[in-house]
Amino acid sequence: MPGGDAYLRTKETIEANQLHTVCQEASCPNIGECWARGTATIMILGDVCTRSCGFCNVKTGRPPMTDLDEPRRVANALSGTDLQHIVITSVDRDDLPDGGAAIWAETIERVHHACPGMTVEVLTGDFQGDLDALQLVMDAKPEILAHNVETVPRMHPAVRPQARYERSLQVLTHIHEGGLVAKTSLMVGIGERDDELEATIHDIADVSSTDILTIGQYLQPTRNHLPIHRWVPPSTFDHWKQVGLHAGFRVVESGPLVRSSYHADAQARLAEVSTGLAGPPTSMPN
Ligand code: SF4
Repeated sequence: MPGGDAYLRTKETIEANQLHTVCQEASCPNIGECWARGTATIMILGDVCTRSCGFCNVKTGRPPMTDLDEPRRVANALSGTDLQHIVITSVDRDDLPDGGAAIWAETIERVHHACPGMTVEVLTGDFQGDLDALQLVMDAKPEILAHNVETVPRMHPAVRPQARYERSLQVLTHIHEGGLVAKTSLMVGIGERDDELEATIHDIADVSSTDILTIGQYLQPTRNHLPIHRWVPPSTFDHWKQVGLHAGFRVVESGPLVRSSYHADAQARLAEVSTGLAGPPTSMPN
């Protein structure tokens, strides 16, 4: 059960700065461990998503007006911590012309400026395939840019109805070709077969040369979400870790409770990510 002084400190920091976290919104099972370690995944661009993925517990609907002060508050909250690595994600904002890319870029720049030495990992949507919007985020130079493929191609219509498998590969390819560290995640136990999963691991590695892969067990957040198709044993996760490493990923984290942001600081160290790869901007927006 979540608790303890360190957990409460993380909670207070988040509440005092009126931040949203995917840890809470997605009912993540790791919240006790992560928050007690002083890590959390901040969710920007509000807490209402324009998409309705079958696995995700974040609210779906029409988001209220965009909060233009959010980048400042995120940077302010993080400047009061001694974290070395932070993960920031967002809801999908298909209602905005740039998909929220400008807010993304300002958030990354402000965090770099407020927290020198902190590596910034961002987990974004696909910007509906708008590579110019993605480039705006890339130009802010996050140390890791993640985009989740989530599942095998056959399961996309049920799991990510508004996304496209090929489009996600295009996003990852663009990140890699732009010289940033690329990362993606897959869920298992949501209807895929073993042979499909292995083919997808190889496909992502071959097409996009993505650096980091995480694989974890799907958990049904409520009865209204997709059912759990199977429980994958730890030995199978170990096998897929080897499959991923042989396919060419530099770092693979694979296990039942692994999430994209779970132990992300350790993955960043393994991938030898440092702020030297992408320094802070020389000036900040007012
Ligand atoms: S795994 Fe990620 S989303 Fe879950 S509690 Fe940890 S930081 Fe939050």
